[in-house]
Amino acid sequence: MSDFRPFAGERIAVVGLGKAGLPAAARLAAWGAEVTCWDDRAEGRQAAEAAGFTLRDPSAGPFTQDALLLSPGIPHTLPKPHPAAEHARAAGRPILCDVEYLFRAVRAAGSAARFVGITGTNGKSTTTALLHHLLVGAGRVSEVGGNLGPAALGLNMLGSEGTYTLEMSSYSLERIATVGFNVGVMLNLSPDHLDRHGSMAGYAAAKANVFARQGRDDVAVLGQDDDWSRGMARAVTARLVPVSGLRAVPGGVWAAGPLLRDEAGTIADLRDAPALPGTHNAQNAAAATAAALALGLDRGGIAAGLASFPGLPHRQERVGGLRGVVFVNDSKATNADSAARALASYGRVVWIAGGIAKEGGIESLAPFFPRIARAILIGRDAPAFAATLAAHGVAHEVAGTLDAALPAAAAAAFAGAAPVVLLSPACASFDQFSGFDARGDRFRALVQAMGATDIGRAA
Ligand code: ADP
Repeated sequence: MSDFRPFAGERIAVVGLGKAGLPAAARLAAWGAEVTCWDDRAEGRQAAEAAGFTLRDPSAGPFTQDALLLSPGIPHTLPKPHPAAEHARAAGRPILCDVEYLFRAVRAAGSAARFVGITGTNGKSTTTALLHHLLVGAGRVSEVGGNLGPAALGLNMLGSEGTYTLEMSSYSLERIATVGFNVGVMLNLSPDHLDRHGSMAGYAAAKANVFARQGRDDVAVLGQDDDWSRGMARAVTARLVPVSGLRAVPGGVWAAGPLLRDEAGTIADLRDAPALPGTHNAQNAAAATAAALALGLDRGGIAAGLASFPGLPHRQERVGGLRGVVFVNDSKATNADSAARALASYGRVVWIAGGIAKEGGIESLAPFFPRIARAILIGRDAPAFAATLAAHGVAHEVAGTLDAALPAAAAAAFAGAAPVVLLSPACASFDQFSGFDARGDRFRALVQAMGATDIGRAA
């Protein structure tokens, strides 16, 4: 048994035994806590039992533990609190997330490792991966995780020279109690998850927690490209660094056209950063750069890191090139808003789309229709998309499946219709795939099977 037992004697109920729950339970137990586990699903309970944990439903009687570690996917207020959360609250016990325990453990170990929390409605994963890439490129020790990648309590302990680069969802941010981020990053805010937060004001309040408990030596990186984010400056007590993908922001980091700069001058030319196309990625690049500067990285190293960033899979990922055509996997675009970002990034494309559409379909994409040389449609809502495209005079066909769509799209592109084949479905994938990642993996495999050459990961 290790003699590092920062939670000795603490009784912690872990509820929700998904990707993060079980590693959290194991780590907390190793650190001395008395852990009980619960999941409403039998599979979760069986996994916990197999790992030797005591099962206990915290809503079966009075809440007798010291705290509830509740999986981010489980609501504690809206739309309806989970009974475990109600019991914990009735007993006056805190409802926490795994980042809170990681922070406490690291500080209990005497480490001053820095904590960076990155949030926003869109761009969290990209900005988190990018900052990690910049840090590692500069020879720093960074552990990356949270929403992206390993769960917080699956990360290694770091000494004072290290940095935790953490993607924070609004759900996790509602469940931190003592964490003050050395660098808090808030990218943008648009309507999302309102069933859980009640209103935009509630959602913004959750996000603003990324700036809670910051000291004067800490840094608050705040996106300036929407009203809600700008309004959050009120919550900032740390040094504020504004960032924008669209316009100059005095005292901050911004993109002026393709040039990323601050008041000291140009930091990088984003045309040299193929994995970061579009103004949305200019915002992500500005935010990661502001955080990197706050952590002491030098400008030349940041420029090199932006250029070498490989991008994340399924987000405008260049999966291959053949006969002058680039194939781009943007399977993560599960709604029209995300597909708009991708369509805006290319002059002319053959577009593969369809699946289970969100409310409103693709009508909102009409401004981008002139860029679509031909649309190849798949999935349940292909007929509805076909009707919208027909009404706007966009050439299209219904292929049905991705396997049929790729050869049709490639043939059109090889015949000169467009230099890019873009899978950006504007739809969920569950009618034909287990998730957006399975859809993107299939696309990549099909492109590679055609004999396309590797051209580096992201467009
Ligand atoms: P998140 O982790 O917040 O879901 P990702 O980095 O995974 O965000 O990006 C998901 C999608 O959101 C991208 O494919 C892109 O379409 C869109 N996106 C990325 N960054 C931004 C941004 N800064 N503003 C608006 N949309 C963005």
